[in-house]
Amino acid sequence: MTDDPRHAVDTAPEPPAARKGFFSKVKRALFMTHTEILENLGNAVKKGLGIDETVLETLEETLLSADVGAETAAALTEAVRQRADRSERKDLAALRSMLLAEIEEILAGAPRAPDERRDEALHVLFLVGVNGTGKTTTTAKLAAREKAAGRTVLLAAADTFRAGAIDQLQTWADRLGLDVVRHREGADPSAVLYDALSAAKARGVRTLLVDTAGRLHTKKNLMDELAKMRRVAGREVPGAPHETLLVLDATTGVNGLEQAKRFVDAAGATGVVLTKLDGSARGGIVLAIYRALKLPVIYVGVGEAIDDLVPFDPSEYARALLGDE
Ligand code: GDP
Repeated sequence: MTDDPRHAVDTAPEPPAARKGFFSKVKRALFMTHTEILENLGNAVKKGLGIDETVLETLEETLLSADVGAETAAALTEAVRQRADRSERKDLAALRSMLLAEIEEILAGAPRAPDERRDEALHVLFLVGVNGTGKTTTTAKLAAREKAAGRTVLLAAADTFRAGAIDQLQTWADRLGLDVVRHREGADPSAVLYDALSAAKARGVRTLLVDTAGRLHTKKNLMDELAKMRRVAGREVPGAPHETLLVLDATTGVNGLEQAKRFVDAAGATGVVLTKLDGSARGGIVLAIYRALKLPVIYVGVGEAIDDLVPFDPSEYARALLGDE
């Protein structure tokens, strides 16, 4: 089996049928954003005279409410203004294709998921982020993918502070037929990690997924705790954690990105999982993430079920957001 070149955790490329399914899932998840953008622009174009100032203002406002971020909204609007000045066609279809071209340009320059093949015996992956974003659920979804790819998987319930997080992970693990290394609630997360690393090494496990805390109940600083966990992992397994995925909730929008930066700086996040895209009209946040965090989006969460995790594909994203009509 070959490794998926887009992401170190994946193996075989998705078969065509599965990829089509993924595209439709992303498209469904982006439906609210997609509809809102096109409706607003359609109404503005109808009212105005082609792509005039009113339309451009509406474009900027619409991009802002889709959460692409203020700077990106301004830059995209200016770029479309320039394209419109040079273009004969000033209808909605023209506006859409100008915007699509600009978004594709941003995506082309966006940070890429690591494409090196993983050859380490044990791949250690941390999931970090604030509570409620979907860390535990995403841990389970990733575990299911790993298992389906034929790898042995172990889970570490290192979110020892959120009530119910350990049992939640255990429930998923039971369904998947996987083991969880767990301590009691409130236990030292680094101690859980240490035990999980030892168990993973002893059993020859290929992938260790570590669900971490989003908030600590002690006076301890979360970022210090995550830094400590990184040191523990690196001491026990060379190069670990090999990946640290920052889980972000699309419904929180750009306001969450300031806080997210701390996870990049202090917790060493290497990529983003964007969850709850299915419940949000803020699908533009992918663009804001690139600008603010300089991290690739690796997966998007499109629902609560175990298979509602989609490997992120920038060109599919652009098409689902604006094109493909
Ligand atoms: P944690 O505190 O970060 O571990 O968050 P949880 O994994 O407990 O998730 C919080 C809630 O978000 C749960 O009800 C999940 O079912 C839900 N959730 C997680 N990911 C998604 C997603 O992609 N879409 C939707 N609609 N809900 C999600």
